[in-house]
Amino acid sequence: MNIHEYQAKAVLAEFGVPVPRGKLALSVDEAVAAGESLGGNVCVVKAQIHAGGRGKAGGVRVCKSSDEVRAAASDILGCILVTKQTGPEGKQVNKLYVEEGLNIASEFYLSLLVDRESEKVAFVVSPEGGMDIEDVAEKTPEKILTVAIQSDTISAAESQSMAEFLGLKGEQLFKFADLAARLHKAFCEKDAAMLEINPLILTAEGDLVTLDAKFIVDDNAIYRHPELAELRDLSEEDPRETEAAEHELNYIALDGNIGCMVNGAGLAMGTMDIIQLKGQKPANFLDVGGGVTVDAVCEAFKLLFEDKQVKAILVNIFGGIVRCDIISNGLMEAIKTHPMNVPVIMRLVGTNEAEGRKIVKDAGLDVRWAEDLDQAAEFAAAAAQEVAA
Ligand code: GDP
Ligand code: MN
Repeated sequence: MNIHEYQAKAVLAEFGVPVPRGKLALSVDEAVAAGESLGGNVCVVKAQIHAGGRGKAGGVRVCKSSDEVRAAASDILGCILVTKQTGPEGKQVNKLYVEEGLNIASEFYLSLLVDRESEKVAFVVSPEGGMDIEDVAEKTPEKILTVAIQSDTISAAESQSMAEFLGLKGEQLFKFADLAARLHKAFCEKDAAMLEINPLILTAEGDLVTLDAKFIVDDNAIYRHPELAELRDLSEEDPRETEAAEHELNYIALDGNIGCMVNGAGLAMGTMDIIQLKGQKPANFLDVGGGVTVDAVCEAFKLLFEDKQVKAILVNIFGGIVRCDIISNGLMEAIKTHPMNVPVIMRLVGTNEAEGRKIVKDAGLDVRWAEDLDQAAEFAAAAAQEVAA
């Protein structure tokens, strides 16, 4: 789960991490008042969306007067911001964060993540701050240092190696050690999956401050953090994925036109691959899982039927723990409110296969049966093309 920059900074501040003073604003007037209350000669108006790359897209504006704040807030609030990370459809800006302006001497990149290889929390740092780290990794990989933290707390040697790599000196080394320890603590205690500070800045006054913050919480640990669960912003998430999650379905929206319903993540991926092999693209990843109920299958079918992008539905069930009759009964429930508006291709094998087929056949549903996955994908691809034509 992703949270907003202003929320991430509030979490970090609880751990004593230095962040700029700032205020949330939901209207232009609030933004102007926020800028005035922060005082100082400069403030920064920042769009709050769950995506980075805002600076280059015009979503971060440095302002030197209340008039400038008013102009920036009017421009940004309510607009659809298209950044490198939002996709071409962009994201609507519903919230602004107004921060005090700081005198930036240098910008660095710093992130923490779970390094699967070493099974440790690792820091990734680079003196090339404020840039796309992917570009740095590609063009100048020598400017990136990864340090896996060996014990529960960060050692002096570990933080020193990072600070020196960033070119920090003297007193700044101690400030960095203190900052790194606080970030590491926040990351571990809040069960983060990723924490990215880009940029981390050194101010002209010699302080290290987190100027931007992206914080992703491990979804599997959210139950341990009601305080983080509260920060969820559903307006930032795909409503289909939210709906699916409520029914414990593993669903990810994609941009193709063949809706898939599969049991098991591996089979779901295999199904997506074979759809591509037949020249079409999946509209989603959907693993209904082992313990699925008729209700959940019904909801899954509704999601697919409601998706305007879906031109054909491929049901690929390898019945084991999942019984084929549960899938068929789910379909029967769904069509009570959502008539089958696109061709449905079913491949049902395994547990209760005969019952599953009988339910659909007895109801006289216009389902196309496939004997194996290859045939199912072929039928689905042909059906999708026909509908599209
Ligand atoms: P992102 O583009 O979505 O990653 O947004 P950031 O929060 O990283 O802001 C983009 C850029 O705006 C930063 O790299 C800074 O160069 C600039 N910026 C942000 N806050 C300030 C500030 O307080 N003062 C100045 N001068 N620049 C800032
Ligand atoms: Mn940034």
